[in-house]
Amino acid sequence: MDIETTFWAVAIVVFLIWMAFASPIRGDIGEGTVARRLKSLPSNKYAVFNDVMLKTGRGSVQIDHIVVSQYGIFVVETKNISGIITGTEHSENWTKTDNGRRYEFFNPITQNMGHINALAHKLNIPTSKFISIIAFSTRGRLMFHQLPSSVVYIPQVAGKIKCYHDVKLSVKRANEIADQIQKIKKYKLVSNRQHIIDVENAIAARNKKISANICPVCNGRLVLRKGKYSEFFGCSNYPKCKYTRSK
Ligand SMILES: [Zn+2]
Repeated sequence: MDIETTFWAVAIVVFLIWMAFASPIRGDIGEGTVARRLKSLPSNKYAVFNDVMLKTGRGSVQIDHIVVSQYGIFVVETKNISGIITGTEHSENWTKTDNGRRYEFFNPITQNMGHINALAHKLNIPTSKFISIIAFSTRGRLMFHQLPSSVVYIPQVAGKIKCYHDVKLSVKRANEIADQIQKIKKYKLVSNRQHIIDVENAIAARNKKISANICPVCNGRLVLRKGKYSEFFGCSNYPKCKYTRSK
């Protein structure tokens, strides 16, 4: 073989090997859990709390992970969803498509804002000190026109947190907050069972509204609208309220 043929033979082999390993499977190797990823953060700068349950006026909120540092309080929501995931930063629901079937799930950015608001209220700290992070399993593929900056894959979660360098809290204040969260964790105000009941009640109340054609976001009326491709239910308070559901 002359040099040029050899070059192309090698190039094709390298390309084929790359194709084999560049599939989404690659990310699965050693994904681990978010908790394990967060352990890699230097413990002298970051205090990590996993699975924190907060009692609020309207029930209880379960927060997957909280990381307290002088760079802010990171609140991490984990999503273990397979398939192709799409949405926009502000849409009420995101969708996942798996084996040709389409499912909707509540926008995790909005969901995590709810968690941050609850935690901010509980700790009496302004929400500006909080940073939201949504960590998706590499089982799913995020297909966004523009991926919101708060959304990452699980293997990137610690790196994402380390990207924040602006000091938001004094070391003393960060330590106080970590102590407060430690107390909340120790003092389990609600049992897991009560949490399940609260969640079930919230879902039931929401479904009851929807079946009565009431908007679950603003209590407006749901009206049938004609979209470009299909009919759907929209809120009568549009454009103030952007709630929609498929017919
Ligand atoms: Zn509405």
